[in-house]
Formats: sequence, C-alpha cells, structure tokens
Amino acid sequence: MAKKAKKAASAAGKKGQFVYLFGKKTDGNGTMKPLLGGKGANLAEMCRIGLPVPPGFTITTEVCTYYYDHKRTYPSALQAQMKAGIAAIEKQTGKKFGDLKNPLLVSVRSGARDSMPGMMDTILNLGLNDQTVEALAKKTNNPRFAWDCYRRFVQMYGDVVLGVQKGPGEDHEPFEMVIEGLKHERHHQDIEDTKLSVEDLKELVVRFKALVKERARKDFPTSPWDQLMGAVGAVFGSWMNDRAIVYRRKYNIPTEWGTAVNVQAMVYGNTGDQSGSGVAFTRNPANGNKEFYGEFLINAQGEDVVAGVRTPEPVHELKKHMAKAYQELERIRQTLERHFKDVQDFEFTIEDGVVYMLQTRNGKRTAMAALKFSMDMFKEKLIDWKTAVMRNPADQLEQLLAPVFDESEVKKATVIATGLPAGPGAASGKIYLNAERAVAAADKGEKVLLVRVETSPEDLRGMIAAEGILTARGGVSSHAALVARQMGKVCVCGAAAVEVNYQARTVNVDGQKFNEGDWMSIDGTAGKVFAGQVKTAPSEIVAGLLDGNEAAKRTEKFKGFQQLMKWCNQATRMNVRTNADTPEQTRQAIAFGAVGIGLCRSEHMFFNEDRIDAVRAMILAETLEERKSALAKMLPYQRDDFAGIFRALKGYPATIRFLDPPLHEFLPHTLEQQQDLAKKLGLPVETIQSRVNQLHEANPMLGFRGCRLGIGYPEISAMQARAVFEAAALVQKEGIKVNPEIMIPLVGFKKELDLQIEVVHQAAREVQAERKVKLNYIVGTMIEVPRGALTADEIAQSAEFFSFGTNDLTQTGLGMSRDDSGSFLSKYEELEIMKKNPFAALDQAGVGQLVEIAATKGRKVKPNLKLGICGEHGGDPSSIQFFEKVGLDYVSCSPYRVPVARLAAAQARLSMK
Ligand code: PEP
Ligand code: MG
Repeated sequence: MAKKAKKAASAAGKKGQFVYLFGKKTDGNGTMKPLLGGKGANLAEMCRIGLPVPPGFTITTEVCTYYYDHKRTYPSALQAQMKAGIAAIEKQTGKKFGDLKNPLLVSVRSGARDSMPGMMDTILNLGLNDQTVEALAKKTNNPRFAWDCYRRFVQMYGDVVLGVQKGPGEDHEPFEMVIEGLKHERHHQDIEDTKLSVEDLKELVVRFKALVKERARKDFPTSPWDQLMGAVGAVFGSWMNDRAIVYRRKYNIPTEWGTAVNVQAMVYGNTGDQSGSGVAFTRNPANGNKEFYGEFLINAQGEDVVAGVRTPEPVHELKKHMAKAYQELERIRQTLERHFKDVQDFEFTIEDGVVYMLQTRNGKRTAMAALKFSMDMFKEKLIDWKTAVMRNPADQLEQLLAPVFDESEVKKATVIATGLPAGPGAASGKIYLNAERAVAAADKGEKVLLVRVETSPEDLRGMIAAEGILTARGGVSSHAALVARQMGKVCVCGAAAVEVNYQARTVNVDGQKFNEGDWMSIDGTAGKVFAGQVKTAPSEIVAGLLDGNEAAKRTEKFKGFQQLMKWCNQATRMNVRTNADTPEQTRQAIAFGAVGIGLCRSEHMFFNEDRIDAVRAMILAETLEERKSALAKMLPYQRDDFAGIFRALKGYPATIRFLDPPLHEFLPHTLEQQQDLAKKLGLPVETIQSRVNQLHEANPMLGFRGCRLGIGYPEISAMQARAVFEAAALVQKEGIKVNPEIMIPLVGFKKELDLQIEVVHQAAREVQAERKVKLNYIVGTMIEVPRGALTADEIAQSAEFFSFGTNDLTQTGLGMSRDDSGSFLSKYEELEIMKKNPFAALDQAGVGQLVEIAATKGRKVKPNLKLGICGEHGGDPSSIQFFEKVGLDYVSCSPYRVPVARLAAAQARLSMK
C-alpha cells in the first residue's frame, strides 16, 4: 500500500492539490522537498518507513508563492482542503478541533526546502481557548498541564502572530518579563517554569492576554479556526521577515522557493515526569564521533530545548529516567541512518513514555564532523567513495585548515569558565555584548567575540561579524550552536559561570570583571573560555602538510583529509593550480596539492622596499639607454625569484604574467617619498614630481596598464622574458624540469599579443644561444576584457593558451570598478539585483557568457587550446562548478584555497555524471 502511494506521488505533486496528508494515509514522500519543504517531505517519508509520527498535513510552498503573488491571499480551494486535513487528523486521533470534551490541538510550523534553523516561526498548542482548556484539563485529569499549554500558546501566538516582541532598546522578551515578574511577586525568587502552579499559570494567561491587548491593540482570538488561519498567515509572513531575509542572503536561498506550512496533531512532552522533548543527532555533529548525541528536557515542550532557556540533559541520561523510551530512540536512530544513509538531526517528544517523531533532516555539521562521517560511513559500507566526496561541503573545508590554540599558550592561560563545545576551533577577540556594537567594531577592523546570555535570530548579524560566540545559557542545539556550526564559527555555549550585564556592558566571571572591548578567547572544541588573548597555532592538516609535523600526520583528521583528497584526484577532470608569487607560497600550494602555478603576478616581486627603487628609476628614465640600465638592475631580482619558484615547482608548469598594473602605482606619491627618491637617484625633486603628474590617470584601471605597458616599452617585456629564460636555463641545468608559460595580460587585439610574442621569442632565442640550452616554453594570453573574449578566435591563432582573468573580466564586463564597487554592491545584493558579489562568485549569466564564447571560439581555431582561470573565482565552489561545465582545463587560486578548489572540482565532475 505504501509502495503504491509512493509511485503515485510525483515530486512535483498534483495540480490544484495544496494540502498533503501524512499519517495513516500519506500523500507525499521524501523526494518532494521543493513542494512540501524539507520538514513536510521528511515527515511523509518517516510515515512511509513506519516511524511513529503524529498525523497532520502540509500546505505546499506553492501556496506561499501564490500568497505573495496575490496580495497575501490564498487560492480559493485551500480552505476546503485544510478542513479535510483537520478532519483526517480528527479521525486518527479521536479528538476534535475546538471540542469541549476531547479537544484536538495542533502545532503549526514552517518548513522551507532547505532548513533554516531558528529563522522561521512555530506555534504550538493551537486550538486552546478559555473553554477548551477546561476540557483538556478534565480529559487529561491534569489541569497543570492544560494551563501550561494554554499559557505557552498565548505566549507564542502573541509573539509570532500578533507581533508582541521586544522593541528597540529592550533586552528581554516582554512575555518573559511578565513571567519573571510573577515569579518574584508570588515566589520571591526565579523558580523553574515547571514549579509554577495552576493558579500561577491561570494568572499568566490573564496577564499575557492583557499584554497582547495593550501592545497589539487586539483581543486574543478565541475560535480555533481563526487561530489556525492566523497562524498559517504568520508562517507565510515570516518568509519575508528580516532574519529570514538575512539568512537567505547568507546561504543563497532564492526568495521564490517559499516555505511550506505543517499542521500536525500535538503530542505533549509536558504532561509530567514520564514525558519530555528532545533534539538528537544520530552521530556527534561537532566532532563526528559515532555516538548518540543530543539532549532532552523532562516535562517540556520542544521549544524549551531549542530556545536555550533551560539547560537540557545529554540524551544518554534518558536511560536512567525512561529506559524503554531510550531503547526506542536507539532503534529509531539506527532506522534513520539505514534509510537516509546520512546523519540525521531529529526532534522527538515523549508523551507518557511513548516516543513520537516530529522532524528529521540531514544534520548540519562542522567540516571536521563531515570529514569523519564520510570516512566512517564509507568504512561501514553505508555510502560509496563518490558519495563520501559529495558529503564534504567545499565551502566549509577551509575550517579544517583553521588555526587551533597554541598548546603551550593554552597552558599559560587561565580557564575562567567552561561550557559546551558547540563550534570547533580557536577564537580570540574583544568582547561585545550586542550584535550592533559587535558589527560596528568588526567594521573598524577589530577582532570580535560576541558574548550573550543566549542568542536569538536577531543576533545573526553580530554572529556573522564575530570571530566567535560565547553564551551563558543554552545547549548544543540552541540557536547559537546551530548557526555557529553552519557558519563555521567558533562557539562555546551554556557557560553558566559567565554573568552578562547588558546595562553595565560588563561580563563577570567568578568575581573577575570584563568590560566591553576587553579580550577573551574561546576554545570551541574543548568548550573552554580564557581571559585575555591566546595565541593560535595551525591546524594538524597545515602542520602535517606544510611543516611535515609527524605527530600531526598521525591524527585521524590528517589521514581523513588525505583520503578525501585522494578520492578527489580520482574524480576530477580539471586540475587545480595556484596563484603564487614567491617560492614559499609555491611550496605551500604544492603541499596542498596544486599542480602548477596558474598565475604569478610578476609585479609583486617589486613591491618591497629595496626593489621598488629600481622600478622607479626605470619609470623615471628619460632615454632608452637610461631605461635599459635601470632594467638591468631589475633583472637579477626577477631571475632569482623565478629560479626559486621553478625549483619549488619541481617540474610543474608556471604561468608567469608580465607586468600588469598602471605605472603610476609604483611611483612615490607623498612629498617625503619623492624627496627620498630624489636623493637616492641624484635627481631634482621637481623631475620626479613632474613625471608623477605626467603619469597620473583619471581611470588607471582602464589606462596605461597590462600589455599596453609592454607595447609602449618593449624593453620591459624583453627584460622580463630574459629573466624567465635565464632562470629556466639555470634550474634546468640543476636537473629540474622547467615549464614556463608566459602570459600577456589585458589583450583585446590579436596584434597586441603578436607584438609581445615576438619580444618573448627574441629573448628566448638569445638566452638559448648564450646558455646553450633548449627551453620548453609557451606564450599565451589572459582573456580579461570583453573584446578579447569576443575575438578569441583571432587571438587563438597566436595564443598557445588562454587564462581567464575573471577579476578584470567582471570589472570590464559589468562596467563596475573592482576597487570601488564596495560602496554600492551590498545594496545590490540586498535588493537581489545580484544574488552574490560578482567579484567573489562568477556572474554566470553575464560574465559567464563571455567565458563560454571565448572558450568555444578559441577551441574552434585550436581544438587543444589550454584553458584556465586565474581570477579570484578560481577558488569559489559555485564558480568552479561553472568552469567544469565550460570545460576548462584548470582553475587557479590562492594556496590555502587549493584544497577547497580540489574538492569543488571533484564534486563538480561527479555531479555532471
Ligand atoms: C584578473 O583580472 O582576473 C587577474 C587574475 O588579474 P589581476 O587580478 O592581477 O588583475
Ligand atoms: Mg587582471
């Protein structure tokens, strides 16, 4: 029966069907995430595999789209379908919505295609009013429970649907203030919520309703149906709230996906000591260990666990309280992994000893955990090696290379508090107690640690800006922990000894006072908090690969990383090269697995103090003779650097780009620098000033730069070519293979390239004759202006390779300065004119076309034309996916991005097959 239904439900769903049931009869399945959202689709899937799920229905994401396209109204068929949905729940539970004997209560939850933890809104216990609460009390013979549900409902509904929330300048939620007030008034202390009496709860409901009336200027709705429609509207409305928008922007979730709404029969974790709620992972999502991991609260509803208000107990403690329920959860844990073949993050409720599943999804994980999961699940034969590669998010991989605290420094530092290790890594920063000030400080370039009692989604901006996050309350599945893990932020939460005083902007820990701006450090792997700044040390992978540290090489992390990279090599078509300008950078990149240099910016070799004077003398030269003599001084610097790079490359190819930046960038601009140079060169300062003025340009990026320099002064290119070939001859004689690829920048016309190629060949002929060697070299060009891309067929007649300079191609293709776009780009992203910063992730629809055109035209002329990319996009996973599709031979990126690019290139290939 289940099988038949699975076939009938296609991933797209049926036209005109807005409500999908789950329970005894299940309309949807796990493949229907676009339509039912992640939560809805997996609830359906869990029903299909026989897990205990309370019945309910999902309102599709299409309704959300309709809602926004039609001035926040619903399709006319929706109401009847929802009524049928409620009737189906009533039939299965034997309860009735709004009934005065056995009332049905439901939860209403959002559920987008990709999970957005803590970003959207949830309402529990819907269907209660002054009458049904009495019925529930009588039916369950548990007035305390009934009134607890009611006060929770009024609180959540008041907050989410009626908008009674903390205003600007308020640090606490208004409902929580009412609770606190009542506790102090009646009990003279801050007692636990579970200790509130029926009378207390009744009084809270009265006060809550008064608060709603005062703040929302509305009576609290009494009809369950009105409540339901209000809640559904609020969930759809929350798709466009601030924090959801911020979240979508950060994770590139398209607005048009919309959210689904899940309406589900309530099961109660708050009926007493044999009940509870929890969140668990089938394995440890912080370090990857294969252990049942999670937490629960006895006598509580789910929101209590994630809100971080009470600190939950670890899930294995459940064994002591409810052995049978624990056993059942263990069984579910195994079933979930066997079925979904991935680590699951699930929510459960235990009602009077019986376990119910409320949600499951693939668990968010740190890069460290992702690596371990993939290695372990491969060994357990749950997944194959290709799946293992896909399971490691490429944009998170850099976390594995992130620094850890220097062990010797940690020994000297004082641990002032401990908390839960919620986001691994080491972070040191100046403490700030609210998001706004944290962002402002980070904007000024400070390293920031965000310290909060607990974090809520409003803190997201501050969390993004911070190096790390420290909270006094909350467990490993609290909002702070989830978001930190996903962002790769270092996080310690639930450090109870940390007392945060928002008013005074101070943090007290065991009598020690810290002011905002003081340093603290946190170890998110061990859950420790330190006073002051603690020095960090490289990760084991960096230590193993770059420093040859043997102990580091023996770690599981190092071995897992190496295995992953090995599989990447097996899967990849594209090569990964590096952008490096020094032998040291080259060595690092090779250690990270680069197979050559894709871009050596030769001008960077002159950017240090003792060398720049030679360049300045060259620019200031008035005659060819003077210029040649200045160039002769520059030559040895370049030759030595190239030789060092060739040695570090051990035979791998090196693409060496000739001088590119505008000449005036090399000149002294302050009077002091000009006087200093005048003295060194024995020239009047006026000569220097007049040459500086002469070279001044209104648009230097579109001015006298790139190959235009070499065309204006061929002797510069001649010197550079000679330096490359002399170095090549030298290193080749040492027995090391050398493969220089000389690259001419900013070419838009074939003739530009031809003129420069001739200069290069001439230098090669000379050096080969002088040194009596035969050198292997090729000459190619960058494609980085639109004209170059559009006339690539002409240029390819002369070029032996193309390398896409997507930084300039973006700048010139979009007509947006790469240096000045910061002032308006964030607005563009906010308005979704562009989804991502085009200088970080390739504008595939626009600039991407230029790349495709050039690749196609170039290969038409030379089918084997080597194609690469060396702009910043060469290290960006989404761009790498695009370059795979276009068929480039390699991507090139900075040394520390090399592992990311290797993984992204492998994944791009695997997902093409
Ligand atoms: C480019 O333009 O993409 C490039 C790699 O060159 P640069 O960044 O040096 O201009
Ligand atoms: Mg460029």
